[in-house]
Amino acid sequence: MTIAEREREMQAVAEEVTGCTLCELSRSRNHAVPGEGNIQARVMLIGEGPGWHEDQQGRPFVGNAGKFLNELLTKAGLQRDDVFITNVVKCRPPGNRDPLPDEIQACSGYLERQMNAIDPDVVVTLGRFSMAKYFPGERISRIHGQAKTIGTRLVVPMYHPAAALHQAALRSAIEDDFAKLPKLLAEVDRVREAASEQDTPPDQLELF
Ligand code: SF4
Repeated sequence: MTIAEREREMQAVAEEVTGCTLCELSRSRNHAVPGEGNIQARVMLIGEGPGWHEDQQGRPFVGNAGKFLNELLTKAGLQRDDVFITNVVKCRPPGNRDPLPDEIQACSGYLERQMNAIDPDVVVTLGRFSMAKYFPGERISRIHGQAKTIGTRLVVPMYHPAAALHQAALRSAIEDDFAKLPKLLAEVDRVREAASEQDTPPDQLELF
């Protein structure tokens, strides 16, 4: 996709999400939260769903968990403007309950379109629900921080910053996992460069 095509697609998704009534969450939301960030990002972060602050502002990760996420990105040498951040459901589940399977399913088309348009090198899943999209049946305590090649991308499951914020063990785990991002990006570059020298199609690459 050209940059102009990406912009058009991301704008179209945002507009459709804003008016979406595909699931029950549309009835209780104040603002839908399509996601925001760099449409040419190499890193895409996928959380669970908007919380109270996000629902008020229509933006992802703006509460305390968002501040913590900014700190984690900074430590990894990244800024919010470098990445794209969204959620598996774009509207807040009432009372911050877990999103239901039919809500995740109803919203999945928007996430797929965002993923196709941005085409990131690395996808970071934050929390159980985005992890389950790529690692069904896995436990986050077992696989967090372990990058896996899925298609042409690296996918790295991590704890959700909101869960890690106030629990020392999880906090240090997510800090360590975020600190791996620069190395992962460098590894993607190294493998792609080697592949281009050998004329290997990118979809045949195994990074890890
Ligand atoms: S959560 Fe997703 S599918 Fe449900 S109303 Fe919001 S945008 Fe539509």
